[in-house]
Amino acid sequence: MILPLELQAARIRLAKERPYLASAAWALQPVPKPGLKSMAVDMYWRLYYDPDVLSGWPAEVLAGALYHEVCHLLRNHAERLKHFNPRLSNIAADAEINDDLIREGVEFPAQPVTPEFIGQPENLLAEEYYAALENQESSSADQTKNKAQSDLKEPPLPGSGRCGSCATGQMASWEDKPLGKGSSSGLSLTEGELIRRDVARQIREHSKGQGCVPGHWARWAEEKLYPKVDWRKKLAAAIRFAAADITGSVDYSYRRPSRRQGQVGKGKVIFPSLRCPVPSVAVVADTSGSISEKMLAQSLAEISGILKSLGQREGIHVLAVDQTVEFCRRVFRPEQIRLAGGGGTDMGVGLEAAARIKPSRQLGIVITDGQTSWPDHPPRGMNVIVVLFGDAAAPDWANVIQIRA
Ligand SMILES: [Zn+2]
Repeated sequence: MILPLELQAARIRLAKERPYLASAAWALQPVPKPGLKSMAVDMYWRLYYDPDVLSGWPAEVLAGALYHEVCHLLRNHAERLKHFNPRLSNIAADAEINDDLIREGVEFPAQPVTPEFIGQPENLLAEEYYAALENQESSSADQTKNKAQSDLKEPPLPGSGRCGSCATGQMASWEDKPLGKGSSSGLSLTEGELIRRDVARQIREHSKGQGCVPGHWARWAEEKLYPKVDWRKKLAAAIRFAAADITGSVDYSYRRPSRRQGQVGKGKVIFPSLRCPVPSVAVVADTSGSISEKMLAQSLAEISGILKSLGQREGIHVLAVDQTVEFCRRVFRPEQIRLAGGGGTDMGVGLEAAARIKPSRQLGIVITDGQTSWPDHPPRGMNVIVVLFGDAAAPDWANVIQIRA
């Protein structure tokens, strides 16, 4: 396929001006969409463009739009915001990005959404803007509509609240089907994560040399390469959140991402206090040999501690699984667990077994290094958290807590 010259030029321009973003710029998979009237990017790094329209955009605007969309992909907005209302998510994600880009002098195809535009301070996370937008919307629906109108049926408009699923994690009407047979080619979630890590390394190299890197990228790369968010806190948050979700007490205005990236707000993580029954839990522990017993025991201790703090007194079911279930019983202390195993790995077998426990388990927590195949969907009626050692892929239907040992 021959790319329109304008698009090629915009990519080259982006990669030249910000060499550390080159691998991201070149990873975009162009997909022509006559009639789109604009351009947009989905969560699989597919860049949809209307060949008739691009030539009308000045080069710096086209490069600016590309840059803006790449920011969504690198900041992983699709993963962070996939459970939220897509219209508000896109506005919130744009507000998170655009104050940084405006400081860099980036040009946009139309009036960009900024924190000021939605009446918020700069430098917050998309999740914080989202909560603010939702509050605004519920208190006065009309006012928000006037301020930040964004109808998903309208053509995309990068930077102005309509960017595609790269910003929301939810498919827009103009997007091709998810990756697979018969759909256009794009990047898998794992490939996307590899690009993110590569860009983070490039940023680190670039700032070590004589290169100039904007502060927001330096902070982003630092967090990407050396995450400071404690996995224990993230695990506690995920379990509390799943508990609230299962028992129907989620206060959506307090929803927070499972994996926070970029700058962290000033201690603004708030979780709803729970006054509801704690869910029944099964823990599937990968005992295929690659995870040290110490780490496993630590994670299990963490999980039971969190459940106790929530008022769980009934113990948890623990399954030790390699490619078969080696151990399955209800335990009250991590020491009661026998971590048998050592064969191949199939966490799907473990989840299936967990789903057969009666009465049924509402929350499944899988502890694994990810060197396993996964089922296409979680067991029916079960929320799944994956505690993942290392960088392997995990299914996107699970809430993933990554531990870099
Ligand atoms: Zn955007």
